[in-house]
Amino acid sequence: MCKNYRILIYTMNKKKLLEKAAPYYEEDQLLELDHAIDFATKFHKGQKRKSGDPYISHPLAVADSLIQWGMDIDSVLAGVLHDTVEDTEATLDQIEALFGHDVAFLVDGVTKVSQARAGMKDLADYLPQTKDNLSKLLIAVGQDVRVIIIKLADRLHNLSTLQHMPVDKQVKIARESLEVFAPMADRLGMGRVRLQIEELAFSYLDPKEYHKLGNLMKKRLGKSTRKLGIVRAEVVKELEKHNIKAEINGRVKSLYSLHKKLKKVDGNIDDIYDLMALRVIVETKEDCYRVLGLLHSMYQPMISRIKDYIAIPKPNGYQSLHTTVITPSKQIVEFQIRTYFMHEYAERGLAAGFHYHEQKSSKDYIKKRKGATLPSHLQWITQLQDIAIRLRNNEDISKEQLNIDVFGDRIFVYSPKGDIYNLPEGALPLDFAYTVHSDIAKHAYSFRVNGNIHPFDKPLSNGDVVEVVTRKLSTPKQAWLDMVTTTHAKHKLRMQLKQLGVIETITGAANIIRQKTIRKKDKS
Ligand code: MN
Repeated sequence: MCKNYRILIYTMNKKKLLEKAAPYYEEDQLLELDHAIDFATKFHKGQKRKSGDPYISHPLAVADSLIQWGMDIDSVLAGVLHDTVEDTEATLDQIEALFGHDVAFLVDGVTKVSQARAGMKDLADYLPQTKDNLSKLLIAVGQDVRVIIIKLADRLHNLSTLQHMPVDKQVKIARESLEVFAPMADRLGMGRVRLQIEELAFSYLDPKEYHKLGNLMKKRLGKSTRKLGIVRAEVVKELEKHNIKAEINGRVKSLYSLHKKLKKVDGNIDDIYDLMALRVIVETKEDCYRVLGLLHSMYQPMISRIKDYIAIPKPNGYQSLHTTVITPSKQIVEFQIRTYFMHEYAERGLAAGFHYHEQKSSKDYIKKRKGATLPSHLQWITQLQDIAIRLRNNEDISKEQLNIDVFGDRIFVYSPKGDIYNLPEGALPLDFAYTVHSDIAKHAYSFRVNGNIHPFDKPLSNGDVVEVVTRKLSTPKQAWLDMVTTTHAKHKLRMQLKQLGVIETITGAANIIRQKTIRKKDKS
């Protein structure tokens, strides 16, 4: 009943890929896929992977992952074609002519990411200096999150064939995967991909530790699997008694997260309660809470370990109830309770949004891209896309604006109506107001948090209910510049201050001072 995170490795070919795609796409789409495979095969002809396999096996494996993740056909086509422009004679124009603008756009995006990684000069000029590679990559491709997802499929396959690389390359690629790609998958809520990347990368980065933990885990699991089976049977019986339809699976902690956690608890594996957890998947949110109630009536819960990520989702959109209980035989068991929908999201994250079931028409997708239908906990993607668009239009963007708030810790706050908003930790009330709407922020007069008056300069906390008290005649003030922290709020506030003529005077004055200083220097 336990899954592990290894991925099956075999050489992909055209026939296998078409067979795998057949259930999910329309006939004309499959025909296009057939063409794309022929096109890529022709251009990669003669090229080999380090493993000795024909090069085409790599883009086909990438496309295979994208099909499994439920991506739309354009992404799958781009997956097949993703290395043609960079590594062969094929051109973007050819791809656009044959497969359309969208596919060409995606291939171009993926190519740019590779170039950004290689640190090519023209792109280094074009890209702003940001605090980390991750932001750079995301900004480069920010207009379409599918580019990142294709890149993740690319990286996953490269990692799974890493044994054919020289050791120094293995370490470099593994480290970059842990530092850049795994967090990226996490940000997109793609839990399963994140785990796969982490496990593979960890096994190359620290093979000794990886094997040691693997053995340790095996010993532990041997002991507890049978005991856990008893708990599982008890729970199944209890759920049946209460007419709750559920699926219960075991999940084993990944070796990499075990490694990280062991560091926190000074290496004592006895302090880790969730080596193995039981996952209860039910149909509705209400059932989740019913299951939680039943579990707590059967076993003693550990109070500090009850987590309601349904009411307050994790920043990447993850939802579940977590609880750790102690059975009468003193066994400590963690439960994760979620609906099928939440489970799908936890495993596939943003990729789930492109699922063929909901995404057959590209119209929905375009709507998504504009952010109109993105859930509020994923608003950061919209903000990122805004910045990317402004960058491409050569708009002036300051360094601090590029310090995108995507990567820090996030909090969730609510409007009085119960709408949920996702803000970076340390966000101030005005940040909230600008996230809701810049017209509301513009007239902010005071704030009420959880019913009490709340100063402009006091950070919000997770779970706060924030009300913006507006006055028609109230307008943005220069002092507000010190009372916003998010990129979005700063940008909107600056625009408003400019409109009011407040900020012009500031930059004007700054310019005069600077010129004076320069002149002084010249004289001396
Ligand atoms: Mn590739």
